[in-house]
Amino acid sequence: MTSPPELDTADREVADADPAEATTPPATGPGLDRPPLLELRDVSMDFQISRGWFGTRGRMKVRAVRDVSLTIGQGETVGLVGESGSGKTTLGRCILRAHRPSAGSIIYHTADGDQVDLVQSDANELRRHRRDIRMIFQDPNSSLNPRLTVSQIIAEPLINLKQGLDSKLARGELQDRVIETMRLVGLRPDQAERYPHAFSGGERQRVGIARALITNPRLVVCDEAVTALDVSIRSQVLNLLQELQERLGLTYLFISHDLAVIKHLCDRVAVMYVGELVEQAPAEELFRRPRHPYTEALLASLPVPDPYRRRDDRPGISGEIPDPAEQIPGCVFHPRCPHAQDRCATDVPGHHQTGPDTVSRCHFAEDLNLLGIGRRPGGSSR
Ligand code: SF4
Repeated sequence: MTSPPELDTADREVADADPAEATTPPATGPGLDRPPLLELRDVSMDFQISRGWFGTRGRMKVRAVRDVSLTIGQGETVGLVGESGSGKTTLGRCILRAHRPSAGSIIYHTADGDQVDLVQSDANELRRHRRDIRMIFQDPNSSLNPRLTVSQIIAEPLINLKQGLDSKLARGELQDRVIETMRLVGLRPDQAERYPHAFSGGERQRVGIARALITNPRLVVCDEAVTALDVSIRSQVLNLLQELQERLGLTYLFISHDLAVIKHLCDRVAVMYVGELVEQAPAEELFRRPRHPYTEALLASLPVPDPYRRRDDRPGISGEIPDPAEQIPGCVFHPRCPHAQDRCATDVPGHHQTGPDTVSRCHFAEDLNLLGIGRRPGGSSR
């Protein structure tokens, strides 16, 4: 099969004008059973990269995030899963406005009931809302400045924001706030003047969590927040995140490639592949009956507790995730999809709403039995 020349995925259209295949997610899609906190509408993120040695072959556009629409409700935990290189972290950084999306809008519903498009916000407006949306990073070792004490590390975002807003924070008030936040995450006040190297990996991640919480955020983007931790420490930190959510009414966007963590923690899950959201569903529904072959393949990698069932019973995934610079006609997953049909190589799947809270970008999402998805070999339903 031959690829159309210079196909720009931003401009791809659903080739088969089937009215059942919406090109954008339905307005009644996932996440709208709660008041929305953040709405991503057709968000795309392009990067210009150099080709050849020292750019001798010019520059080209790479689309790392493609037309992503996702609503995050107040107080819920949304999981964002996918292999490395699927665009999860780039999307998280767009939400924080560390990257300015190339297209689309990110509507933030403020505590005052206003709606603000973070993509169009200027520096002053962004500063006002930055305290509300914070991030916990993957590697506590590299994300903490080794030259600062823990109290300085935790206080830094608050100081920066206060200075930016021309509102000085009294020294005593700042210290109180740091100590209060340290206690909140299970650190002792007498650890405040120590440096990061004096802490264990789990404690360092607690410092990272305190740094995120010092501004009293509403949404926390957790980017592989427990991936670098030992298994025993990981469950402690996950429990802490859950406790903090209940206590503070936090909303989480939990970015991870670890499906076991996502299953444990999340209310809803969005699955990302080469920059596109290919499936969204409540966590229980998604793990019970995936509606996209990529999700099915990811689930095949989960450990199976049944000793009589082989792990490779389910269709797995082969090959590598493609380079985002690669122009893939049709369904982005078709080169690796074990269920691909002829039309998959030419027609871009629309957003199929397969239930009140489920959306899948597969041509066959409404009749997955045709492909044998969601059934174990032998015909039994999972
Ligand atoms: Fe696979 Fe085709 Fe569905 Fe894409 S549209 S996931 S290639 S079956």
